[in-house]
Amino acid sequence: MKRYLTALLLPLVTSTLLAAATAVRPNILLIVADDLGYNDVGFQGGRDIPTPHLDRLAASGARCTNGYVSYSVCSPSRAGFLTGRYQQRFGHEFNPKWDATSTTHGLPLSESTIADALRAAGYTTGMVGKWHQGAHPQFHPNRRGFDEFFGFLGGGHRYFPDSHVDVEIGAGKKAATHADAEHASPMLRNSTELPESGELTTRLGDEAAGSVTRHARDARPWFLYLAFNAPHTPLQARADLLQKFSGIADERRRTYAAMVATVDESVGKVLAALDATGQRERTLVFFFSDNGGPMTKRNANASLNTPLRGQKGDVFEGGIRVPFVVSWPGRVPAGLTFEAPVIALDVMPTALAAAGATREAKLPPLDGVDLLPFLNGTTRAVPHARLFWRMDGGEAFAVREGRWKWLRTYANAPQLYDLAADPGESRDLAAQRPEIAHRLAAASAEWNRGLVAPVWTNNPFGGLINLPGPAKAAAP
Ligand code: CA
Repeated sequence: MKRYLTALLLPLVTSTLLAAATAVRPNILLIVADDLGYNDVGFQGGRDIPTPHLDRLAASGARCTNGYVSYSVCSPSRAGFLTGRYQQRFGHEFNPKWDATSTTHGLPLSESTIADALRAAGYTTGMVGKWHQGAHPQFHPNRRGFDEFFGFLGGGHRYFPDSHVDVEIGAGKKAATHADAEHASPMLRNSTELPESGELTTRLGDEAAGSVTRHARDARPWFLYLAFNAPHTPLQARADLLQKFSGIADERRRTYAAMVATVDESVGKVLAALDATGQRERTLVFFFSDNGGPMTKRNANASLNTPLRGQKGDVFEGGIRVPFVVSWPGRVPAGLTFEAPVIALDVMPTALAAAGATREAKLPPLDGVDLLPFLNGTTRAVPHARLFWRMDGGEAFAVREGRWKWLRTYANAPQLYDLAADPGESRDLAAQRPEIAHRLAAASAEWNRGLVAPVWTNNPFGGLINLPGPAKAAAP
């Protein structure tokens, strides 16, 4: 009888729990850093730049140690997680040039965004910070699903009003005048220009914390995308934080450290606003960097990707594997270290599932997956059998499958690494394990057939050249 009752009641209990779970529509807070090194926050093991607020965020949820982005430079990476799709599926494979008259250089209008979907589901949607998805009015955040926007439309910005910007365009070369206009572009509230004031990362943190507080008692849940441009160049930081890091001898690393500390401080303000308004338990938070740290190339910012090989712009781990946190108290186990590969493309499906939101059936499928069942242990499977990358219209490819990483860059021979044994990608096993190399090369070629050629291309030094016509996409 007892067993019978249990059998009878269990579905009731389960369905009640499910109803409770779906009844909570959490706020969604997506925080993105820009060009942050893999090893430059405390929760990743960094030692010289204290990041207590980010560390607290990481401790409150899951630290994904194999967390990836879908591209190793800014705009395509952001186009990926804003749509939940590999951005090469719709030709967004280069940074857009800074041109408010271009209807080409921006997130293609064929795509709908995470903000579109959450707004349709009844969320108030807001964005604070760097857009970098097109400067033409048709690409404006208010046209791409965001009810509220505060920030700037370009790919970077000076941190202080009227400050001079040296744009690094390669070893020893500086100051591209075209990019100076981008870095001095107006601050906007929706489409209204505002004067610059104070230090930018500080201001973005204040704006985001204000948004969290302002919407605390709304009947609707909210989605906030807090998109920092720090610690991307130019290397500029507040005097008080430069003083705090006076023990770092290298001036560039000292300034970078102060910029990372500013990001941490601003994240701390937002978390404090969540706590003060009683929203922390019903807010799902993501944090990651849009790509790896640029250590020696253009826009190098003195970041460190140790122990990973490579940097921003690469398909080596240092370009695509980033500090990655998912936090939702009570729903994602606190202190979890999650080692299976995940990707920023997972943000959108995870957020939509948590929100109980659906997408129109006519829309193309998402490439990401809902991470919550994996993070909370509902399933022991891995989120992705394989992850894929393509750079610059086919100049480089990579595949991650379990412990294996296959890649091919430019005209070089394909390489194969065992990331479980060799996270620094130092021992090429392509010759020893040809069967695996061939399998992953074939998988890359198959995936590539689902992509299109880039809608626009640029030169390696900053998106200043719009080549005529679509580029031909190369096969791996
Ligand atoms: Ca970036």
